[in-house]
Amino acid sequence: MKYVNSYRCTVCGREYDKNDNLYTCPKCGDTGILDIEYNYEKLKKVINKSYFDNNKDYSMWRYRDVMSVEDSKLSETLRVGWTPIYKSNRFASIIGIKELYIKDEGLNPTASLKDRASAVAVIKASSEGRDVIACSSTGNAASSLAGNAARMGLSTVIFVPERAPQGKLAQLLIYGAKVICVKGDYRETFQLSKKAIDYWGWYNRNAAINPHMVEGKKTVAMEIAEQLKWKVPDWVAVSVGDGCTIGGVYKGFFDLFSIGLIDRIPKLLGVQAKGCCPFYTAFIENKPLEPTDENTIADSISVGIPRNPIKGMNAVSRSKGTWVVVSDEAILETMKILGSCEGIFGEPAGVAGLSGVMKACREGIIKSDETVSVIVTGNGLKDVKNALKATPKPIVCQPNIEELKKYFVKY
Ligand SMILES: *Cc1c(COP(=O)(O)O)cnc(C)c1O
Ligand SMILES: [Zn+2]
Repeated sequence: MKYVNSYRCTVCGREYDKNDNLYTCPKCGDTGILDIEYNYEKLKKVINKSYFDNNKDYSMWRYRDVMSVEDSKLSETLRVGWTPIYKSNRFASIIGIKELYIKDEGLNPTASLKDRASAVAVIKASSEGRDVIACSSTGNAASSLAGNAARMGLSTVIFVPERAPQGKLAQLLIYGAKVICVKGDYRETFQLSKKAIDYWGWYNRNAAINPHMVEGKKTVAMEIAEQLKWKVPDWVAVSVGDGCTIGGVYKGFFDLFSIGLIDRIPKLLGVQAKGCCPFYTAFIENKPLEPTDENTIADSISVGIPRNPIKGMNAVSRSKGTWVVVSDEAILETMKILGSCEGIFGEPAGVAGLSGVMKACREGIIKSDETVSVIVTGNGLKDVKNALKATPKPIVCQPNIEELKKYFVKY
């Protein structure tokens, strides 16, 4: 927190004191999402490459000086971040590009990138002396909040749409959350959570309201840069629902660029599902975002009304990137190839970014001599029902070698 200058409204540009503890801009209301601004001149004096060489904290907190958290209690959270980044051996040659790096965020404690925001949420709530945190979520923000809160001894109230995959629901219940399954889509789930949070006054982890969530998510970009020895790739691809994750990815690179640790900000490829693509449509048609149906198996990005449209849109345009959409069939195909080529198991929304990279390569958006990093945002074990749609059936056989020979002969 010591290098935070102030908060600025992304709509009207008004600046607020960091001690005001605001969620959103009082003038603009809920749409006035705040951006946290740092004193880069001061940071430049403290943070350089050797600062990181000497940093033994291999979690997201290694970037604590460029975050909006206080030091106390950081050691009490689950261990989030510093997930592996793999140089792809086979996938890159399949799609015909020079270098492809895959960051596996499914290896976070609750198995998605959302842990980076939830860890900040529980630190904030706990240091403010709040004991109940609430959020609405397509599933991962929920299970992530529930797990991270359990570790800190906080209670959670979670709103998810009825469609949430069983794996995510199981996580919620195991982590001891009070779970409300809303008979409706994510739009209706969000609305109910908002009314309930206003009414009961819980700490609000809704990522598009709470400016600290993007500050947590940005650490994924910082890790990509550091793990690639500060030589950032030409493109970074990520799947987009509400727009907070890609907003965070942009912010992470922006901070590093402003401090002088990297020489440019990578182009961001925002990837949406064909059946739910309000960002893509707004970008292509060059008009404001409009609500859409939520019609994709990639439940984590099945967001008909994105809650962070400004940060999401700005991330792609300021980085000079672009948007693509991918079909559910393409997502399932990517899931299977990623698993069998690289040993990485992503959930549908988790691999959508990579599916988008494949498409962008085919369409010549990404050139064969460019380097790409893709973020696999969530683990496939959360949603085995869809994974099984992507794969051939196993051989079912009596415990009898003669019978097995019948099925196995052709191998
Ligand atoms: C939340 C989530 C996303 C998208 O993040 P947004 O902030 O909603 O844009 C992508 N993939 C997975 C697995 C997620 O859980
Ligand atoms: Zn404002």
